[in-house]
Order: sequence, then C-alpha cells, then structure tokens
Amino acid sequence: MLNGKIALVTGGSRGIGRAVVLRLAALGAKVALIYRTAEEAAAAVCQEAGEADVRAYRCDVSLTEDCKNVVEAVRADLGDADILVNNAGIIRDGLMALMKEESFDAVLDTNLKGAWNMMKYCAPGFLKKRSGRIINITSVAGLHGNAGQTNYSAAKAGLIGLTLATAKEFAGRGVTCNAVAPGLIETDMTATLSRKDQILEFIPLKRFGQPEDVAAAVAFLAGPGADYITGEVVRVDGGLAM
Ligand code: NAP
Repeated sequence: MLNGKIALVTGGSRGIGRAVVLRLAALGAKVALIYRTAEEAAAAVCQEAGEADVRAYRCDVSLTEDCKNVVEAVRADLGDADILVNNAGIIRDGLMALMKEESFDAVLDTNLKGAWNMMKYCAPGFLKKRSGRIINITSVAGLHGNAGQTNYSAAKAGLIGLTLATAKEFAGRGVTCNAVAPGLIETDMTATLSRKDQILEFIPLKRFGQPEDVAAAVAFLAGPGADYITGEVVRVDGGLAM
C-alpha cells in the first residue's frame, strides 16, 4: 500500500512513534526514524523492521537547525519525504501556579514548534512533488484541556490549529494535513500516571489504548483510502472525549 513512499516519523524510538514506524514499514514505506537521545532503542526498532528500509537519525525537533539538517540528510539518503508524522512529544505536568516557565517553554518548543519546524523544512519537497501527507499527533488534551497540563493542552490545541491552517495552505498543491488525537495510550509517557483506574471508568470501550491503535489510524491517513481527507482530527481514545 505504501510501496515506494518515503516516510519521516519523529519520536520513533519508542511508544506510539515506534508502532507507527513499524506499521508504515510493514506497508512498504522506507522510513526515517527520528529520535532525540535513545540511540540504542532507535537501532533496535530498525532491526525489528527486518527487511524493510528503516534508518535512524538523531534530531531534537525543538531545534530549528537540527530539523533543517535532518530533512537534508533524509533527502540525500532516501529522497524527499512523501509522509511526515509529527509524533515527538514530552510532558512537564504541574499546576499553573507552580509551573516553571521553562516547563511551559520546553513543552511548547517540542510539541508545537517542533512540528512546525519539520513541516517547514519538508514543505519544499511536498510542494515540488505536488503530493504529501502530514499527520500530527495531538491529544484529547488539546480538544478538551486537562487540569495540571496547561502547557501540554496549549501545545496540543495549537497543533490542531497548525494542522487546519496547513491543510488550507497546502490543499491546492495536493498535500493533506490531518491530526490524530490519542486518549490514554500505554507507553512510557503514561506509565507513572497516578489516576489511571479513575480514567478507565470514563473510557466507554473499557480499556486503555495501545500504540498500535494509534499507528492504525496514522497508516490509514497516510494511505490511498484517505486521499480526500484533510484538516481532520481523528480521535483514537476508546470514546473518552466523546
Ligand atoms: P513516549 O513514549 O514518551 O515517546 C516520546 C518520543 O518522542 C520518544 O521517541 C522521544 O525520543 C521523542 N522525543 C521527545 N522529545 C523529542 C525531541 N525534542 N526531538 C525528537 N524526539 C523527541 O511518548 P508516547 O506516549 O509514545 O507519545 C507520542 C506522542 O503521542 C506525543 O506527541 C504525545 O504527546 C502523544 N500522545 C500520547 C498519549 C499517551 O497516552 N501516551 C496520549 C495523547 C497524545 P527519545 O526516546 O530519543 O527521547
């Protein structure tokens, strides 16, 4: 389904990003896996992909220069990207009155500006090809807000605005831009969450999500079945944010 396509996935070393890398690779795409620090984990994902062409690149998406360099490196190795999945994300939770400014900035810089950086540097390739798929991983926190996550909710809501504006700006050039909004997915990010059992009561499908649940939605948006979909936000949350 994705044979001949080149995909770039940020935060691909673990969790949701890892599942997206493996899913796109299994569908035939060549994948550039971007990680920030976890070199060994990134190498393990490349190995896990077996025969598929998955290569790891180090890049901190919050740094403009890193993003420019990594897009150039991927272009030199594989070619211009057809699919960009902005998945890299961090949390620095805390009540607003106690939250340090650095925590606000770090979350906005990675989750929102990081996506903008990658889109900006991938854009010339998409526009040249007159095709492309951008998929941004937002969160139900960006749709409804979470107490204790003012920074994260703002970044993820911003990512939805960025998705909609990009969808409109690029539509005439054959490039779609959509977002996926996961609910509670079992990854390192949620491993230490304290109120998990309470949250489970509010999930109509009565289970937490798995990274593969999100990867399936990303693969759909990256594939031919989503040719006529742009500016959409797909919730993958078991009904949590209904
Ligand atoms: P995770 O397990 O903590 O993995 C985060 C990934 O992002 C890692 O690969 C990490 O790389 C990478 N990363 C972090 N900062 C980066 C940076 N500055 N530059 C490049 N890569 C960076 O998180 P996850 O749960 O899979 O979440 C993935 C995405 O889904 C995030 O955007 C998150 O906000 C969103 N999301 C998650 C949930 C959930 O319940 N898990 C719910 C809603 C939305 P290193 O390992 O190299 O540091």
